[in-house]
Amino acid sequence: MIIIKGIGASPGISIGKAYVLEDEEIVVTRMDIPRDRLRAEAARFKAAQKATHRDLDAAEAKVLKLLGKNHARLIDAHRLILRDALITRDVPQRIMREGVNAEFALSEALEAVNQQFEKLDDEFFRERRHDLFDVGKRLLAHLLKHTRHSLADIDHPCILISRNLLPSDTINLKESRILGFATDLGGKTSHTAILAQSLEIPAVVGLSDVSRRVKSGDTVILDGEQGLVIISPTAEAVAKYEKAQVAEHEAERALEALRGLPAVTLDDKRFRLEVNVDAPEEMKAVLALQADGIGLFRTEYLYFNRPTAPSEDEQAKAYAAVAKAMSPHPVVIRTADIGGDRLTQMGIEGPKNETNPFMGLRGVRLFLRHLDLFKTQLRAILRAAAKGNVRIMIPMVSAVAEVQAVRRLLTQAAAELQAEGVDAPKGVELGIMVEIPSAAVLLDAFLPHCDFVSVGTNDLIQYTLAVDRINEHVSHLYDPFHPAVLRLIQGVVTTTHRAGKWVSVCGEMTSDPHAVPLLVGMGCDSLSVSPRMFLRVKETVRGLRHAVMARLVAKAVTCSDSEEIRRLMREQGL
Ligand code: PEP
Ligand code: MG
Repeated sequence: MIIIKGIGASPGISIGKAYVLEDEEIVVTRMDIPRDRLRAEAARFKAAQKATHRDLDAAEAKVLKLLGKNHARLIDAHRLILRDALITRDVPQRIMREGVNAEFALSEALEAVNQQFEKLDDEFFRERRHDLFDVGKRLLAHLLKHTRHSLADIDHPCILISRNLLPSDTINLKESRILGFATDLGGKTSHTAILAQSLEIPAVVGLSDVSRRVKSGDTVILDGEQGLVIISPTAEAVAKYEKAQVAEHEAERALEALRGLPAVTLDDKRFRLEVNVDAPEEMKAVLALQADGIGLFRTEYLYFNRPTAPSEDEQAKAYAAVAKAMSPHPVVIRTADIGGDRLTQMGIEGPKNETNPFMGLRGVRLFLRHLDLFKTQLRAILRAAAKGNVRIMIPMVSAVAEVQAVRRLLTQAAAELQAEGVDAPKGVELGIMVEIPSAAVLLDAFLPHCDFVSVGTNDLIQYTLAVDRINEHVSHLYDPFHPAVLRLIQGVVTTTHRAGKWVSVCGEMTSDPHAVPLLVGMGCDSLSVSPRMFLRVKETVRGLRHAVMARLVAKAVTCSDSEEIRRLMREQGL
């Protein structure tokens, strides 16, 4: 039995046979084609194009069914490439002119474009290049009659093991009867991890070399909660985890009884328990939770996989639908936090390939460089505010001047809408995310310019501890219980309350039932939780005494390391 520790990306236990997805290597060789067979060779290439179009249609249908229109745009981008002159004209010309096989002509054409892209050194083209090679790989697979590894082909329940998993692969997992997945690469907040949670598939990522250590057919236990992969477990381990699986299902059923009940502690301190939403497809499940609101509506999804920005109308419609569905409960719409690991294909990242994108042009910094994009989003949010209880939140704030600039832009947007006779309420609240230490430390100077505060622990931890949140090599240092992190959060709560304003916490820390007692003890007004963990967190809150947790926090912030804090918590049975 071998136990490998990684990062729990999506909770749940699965036990089953491993299916190891190998990295694909397609080798292309040059062949000289006789003159009289060149037309047939070009026709063979055309047939591969048609087959690739059919692949894309099938992929689109699947994506639409599972994840909706917005995610399906990725397929459109691939279709455009497939119709590009590079594919439809250049490759057949190369076949005819150079007298070579279609595979070779295609790989030569791709390499020529690759070299052009390299010279351009622009984020937009780097992303397009990725798409181009994806399409190229599909075409080559058809030409070589090479069956591309399709997860949809897996016809038996199994645990998927691979080096990496792209979001486009993850989309197929539910249909493929995959019981869970484990990958060498990745972090807890990658798009793939977020999709796994939405699809309720247990997942462990950042395991370094699991894809080399497991063989297809090995029995594997995946513990998405603890972030463990157990290879060739003993009979005792299997029995233990089978028991835990049953207990997990029972516990989930028992949690259903908590729907609609308030998030109140045993000593009657009421918390607002809200949800984080990443895409409108989640709304059905979110509404069923009967949450107190949406504490974080991430809007980046609207900007992904498309060459142009979403229009004001498209955005207003999307935000209004969510606001209406949640009404009268509040929805905190966060302006797009593009940058870092969240790249779009709209060609707006930059200035060039950033060496350290998490420290670069991200969130409000990027949008303050692109005021047209920013204003459009603010106008759309203000329009949606007429349909429900909407608040606006700014990500990645590090300086007071940024908040002031956004205020001015918001006032301008509101005045424009009023002049145009568009229905948009006045006084929509503007909040800031505290996820950069400078904002936490200097919060008293920020507060006169904003109506509320929300702590983004995912980033606050990464920037406080200098630990890249998606880098598996330093994930052991990514520690929500670090006393420096706790002191910062506690300071944010106290300072915000002193200014008579309210504060929420919306990072993944709120979805960790072990960390929740500390947030409760600090007295944050609202916790915004991932939908998957919502009822579990409510159960935790309802089992705590606020006064006791407040005393625990007072001790915790005097500790010098997180182990001491965890020990304190264990002593209290937490
Ligand atoms: C955070 O940083 O905690 C947060 C909620 O924002 P995101 O995860 O989208 O960066
Ligand atoms: Mg963040």
